[in-house]
Amino acid sequence: MNYLHTTHPNNSPASHLIDLQGRHLNYLRLAVTDRCNFRCTYCMPKEGIDLKARDNIMRFQEMEHLLGLFLDLGVTKVRITGGEPFVRKGLPGFLTRINQYKKLETINLTTNAYFLEDTIPLFQMIKSGSINISLDSLKRDVFFKITRRDDFERVWNNIEKILLTDLNVKLNMVVLKGVNDNEIIDFAMLAKKNKVEVRFIEQMPFNGGLFPNEIHTAEEIICTLQNSFPEMIEHQKMSSTARIFDIPGFKGKIGIIAGHSRTFCSTCSRLRITPDGTFKTCLYDYGAINLKDMLRLGKSDQEIKAAIRDAVTKRAKDGFESEQRTQQIIHFSKNHLSMAQIGG
Ligand code: SAM
Ligand code: SF4
Repeated sequence: MNYLHTTHPNNSPASHLIDLQGRHLNYLRLAVTDRCNFRCTYCMPKEGIDLKARDNIMRFQEMEHLLGLFLDLGVTKVRITGGEPFVRKGLPGFLTRINQYKKLETINLTTNAYFLEDTIPLFQMIKSGSINISLDSLKRDVFFKITRRDDFERVWNNIEKILLTDLNVKLNMVVLKGVNDNEIIDFAMLAKKNKVEVRFIEQMPFNGGLFPNEIHTAEEIICTLQNSFPEMIEHQKMSSTARIFDIPGFKGKIGIIAGHSRTFCSTCSRLRITPDGTFKTCLYDYGAINLKDMLRLGKSDQEIKAAIRDAVTKRAKDGFESEQRTQQIIHFSKNHLSMAQIGG
C-alpha cells in the first residue's frame, strides 16, 4: 500500500503527524541557542541561566537533518527562536540553507530586535513568514527595568526600520502587573498607523525562578482594550494560539495570547525542539525524547521518525495535563525553567 495516498479523516496524508485529539502538527519551533544578550525578568534571572555546554547544543547540520525529517512528517512551517537566535554565529547561513527546502513553506523568527538591522535584507530574500519582535515597553527606563539592558533606542530604531518594509511583523508584549500594564493602550495604538499585529502575552511560569503570585490575565487585557476601543471586534478565524481583534480604522491587528490560562490548546499545532535537542509536544511538558542524542547515536531516519510519531501519540490533551505529568517528574519553580531553555 502506498501510505502517502492513505488519508486521515481530516484529509491529511497518513504520513503526517496527527495526535489523538486530531490536531495536525505542522508547525515546528526550533530553538537554536539558549544564549541571550538580554536578561528579561520574566524569562531569566539577572545572572542568567545555567547554560548547556556547547557540545550539548545542536549543530546546524543536526538541525537541518532533523528539519528534513519533520518536513517528511508534514511540517510546513518553522519558527526559529531561542534564547536570542542572532547570538548564534552562522544563523544567516543556516536560514539561507533551509530556505532551499522545498516542503518548507515559511521561515518565521522570534527576536528581541537588537541585531535586526543587519538581517532585514536576508528576511526579504527568504520565504519569511512572520518576524515576531519582543518589546515590552515604549519607555527607556521601563525597558531597562525589564530587559536589564539599556538598549531601548537601538531596538526601537530597528523596529522602525523593519516596519517600513513589507515584511509581516508582529510585536509581542508580555504584560507584567504593575510594571508595563499601563502601556497596553500605547502599544495598541502602534497598530493604528502600522500594518503590524500587536500581541499581548500573559506571563507564563518560565522565568528561571519563582513565579509571581499575581499575573495580568488575558481577560484583564481584553477588558482594558475594550474600555478604550469599545468598537473592537474579534476575528472569526482563530489562529492557533492568539485571539485576534480588529479595531475599525486601524491598519494592524491586536492579538491576545493566553499562555498561562491556556485557552488555545484545542487547536495547538506546535511542536518544539529545545537547543539541546529535546523534543517537546507541549510548552508545558518535560520533553519526550532527545533527537540530537538519537542522531549522535547513529539512529536511522526511520527510527527517529518512529520515535517522533510515538511521542506525538502520547501528546497530552492540553497544557494542564502536560504540566501535571511534568510535576510528577520535576517542579517548574524549583527547577527554575526559563523560556530561553525551551524556546518561547
Ligand atoms: N529572544 C527572542 C525574543 O525575546 O523574542 C526569542 C526567544 S524568547 C524566549 C521568545 C518569546 O517568549 C518572546 O516573545 C518572549 O517575550 C516570550 N517569553 C519569554 N519568557 C516568557 C514568559 N515567562 N511568559 C510569557 N512569554 C515569555
Ligand atoms: Fe532573551 Fe528573549 Fe528571554 Fe528576553 S525573552 S531574556 S530577549 S531570550
